[in-house]
Amino acid sequence: MVLRSDAVVIGSGFGGAAPALRLAEAGAQVTIVEQGPRMPPSAMRRTQDPRYLQQHLLSLGDEQTSINLARTWGGASPWYEMMSLRAPSVAFARTDATGRRRWPEGLDRRTLAPWYALAETTLGVAPLAEDRVPRTGQVFAWMLANQGMAAARVPMAVQGCQGAGYCWSGCVFGAKRSLDRTYLPAAEAAGAVARVGATVHAVEPMAGGYRLAASDADGQPIVLEAPTVVLAGGVVGSAALLLRSRRALPGLSPTVGQGIGLNNRAVVLGLLPADAPQVDNFTGPSQAGIITWDLLEPHGMVLWPAKPLPLMFMATGRGQRPGERSWGAQHIAWMKHFRRRGLMLIAQGPGPTAAELRLEGGEPVLRTVDQPAQETAAGERKRWEGVIRDLLARAGAEVIELHPRDLQGRDRPDTFIGNSHVVGSCRMDPDPARGVVGLDGQVHGHPGLWISDASTLPSPTGVNPSLTILANAERIAAGIVEAVA
Ligand SMILES: Cc1cc2nc3c(=O)[nH]c(=O)nc-3n(C[C@H](O)[C@H](O)[C@H](O)COP(=O)(O)OP(=O)(O)OC[C@H]3O[C@@H](n4cnc5c(N)ncnc54)[C@H](O)[C@@H]3O)c2cc1C
Ligand code: SF4
Repeated sequence: MVLRSDAVVIGSGFGGAAPALRLAEAGAQVTIVEQGPRMPPSAMRRTQDPRYLQQHLLSLGDEQTSINLARTWGGASPWYEMMSLRAPSVAFARTDATGRRRWPEGLDRRTLAPWYALAETTLGVAPLAEDRVPRTGQVFAWMLANQGMAAARVPMAVQGCQGAGYCWSGCVFGAKRSLDRTYLPAAEAAGAVARVGATVHAVEPMAGGYRLAASDADGQPIVLEAPTVVLAGGVVGSAALLLRSRRALPGLSPTVGQGIGLNNRAVVLGLLPADAPQVDNFTGPSQAGIITWDLLEPHGMVLWPAKPLPLMFMATGRGQRPGERSWGAQHIAWMKHFRRRGLMLIAQGPGPTAAELRLEGGEPVLRTVDQPAQETAAGERKRWEGVIRDLLARAGAEVIELHPRDLQGRDRPDTFIGNSHVVGSCRMDPDPARGVVGLDGQVHGHPGLWISDASTLPSPTGVNPSLTILANAERIAAGIVEAVA
């Protein structure tokens, strides 16, 4: 079966939603191809069951770098914690080893401002209302105020939150303003056709456009043809598709798959003293709603409290008091204590671009390739941990050592970085020897083939990246609409 349209958008996450909507609004016949399923609130579960989460969230990486992804209608947005932050200027000013700016000239926080504003309006982003800030966030703000530091409420894409606290496993109340509740229904209302459960396997040029070999939700092969094709499969999906299609796309940049970066992150757990106000880690949105920017200038990090649920806390942090067991009565008492007194602080900033995606046996694998950069990031984390320990000590808190392990139960090396804030693999750069797409998002040497997702961002954003990915996708979408008009 051959399906023709004006434009095909591959992937329905933050990178794909904006071009799908804006092209459909402009009157183009748009097909959105998404390999994951629709997950309406009725399909979500309030659970910490790892089997449910593993059905939808995938990990990829090696012993040094690990990334998390989701394959769903709406990309990772049905699973995200709704933190919608503009990236700080320092993230755009990052340079490579030769001192060259990683972000193309003309792309920074200021030039992205109108696109950030459009993304915020369409998603419905607003700082969490004061009376909605969970207790853990309030206590963090109290601690900061006592130390002369400013607290800011986190801008979040949420409406009608019931405080159920299971944002990680999807919102059963439909309160998340995720893409499947904002951009994507609007695109469908404007005429876009969604092929949910379908996967694109290869791209090749044809007269007047591109031909895509795909399989439909039932596994049957289909062919899609369009003059305009937008790759938005994310850091892994878009690079893997280009690597598989390399022979058909002469002149493709040699950098496809390279320069993958993650935010750097340090986590420290403090136990607040008995006379401090109590937190509540098991109630309210999983994001505590308060962040401080005061540490950005002196230390290159933002800081906020996490609210992990008990299983996640034990699975990822293994925070135990020395000599105590992680089961039975001791463990129950510890969990109660952690719930009311535990302040788990996360420091985050732009990390190294130290990993690379390759195809092995036709499947994408992620490998760490820049060990020195990974070691520099480990040094930075140690410094951040020192800053957080000082903050906690000044608040009279006792620091509990965390012993994070990987899924096989092995201790992680000091140089390990693992999170969902991943960018790169099809970087923007005006020079095809250094990047896959130009500033406009068009693949070098292949007019009509665009990339608009996280893979185009040349280095990590420091803060949670979704709003920057969406703003950049809005900017690229405007250019595509202009080009095809
Ligand atoms: C659990 C989790 C929580 C997060 N929380 C936050 C947060 O609170 N704030 C924040 O800013 N960021 C958060 N992030 C990060 C953020 O969600 C990602 O950075 C963002 O989703 C990346 O957008 P994208 O469009 O590049 O890719 P994605 O959102 O990953 O979308 C890509 C889509 O393309 C589809 N696809 C890929 N290849 C193909 C193909 N060949 N054919 C068809 N479909 C394909 C995939 O199935 C996927 O649905 C979180 C991420 C995760 C996983
Ligand atoms: S805390 Fe709010 S957004 Fe999160 S799952 Fe519950 S209702 Fe949904």
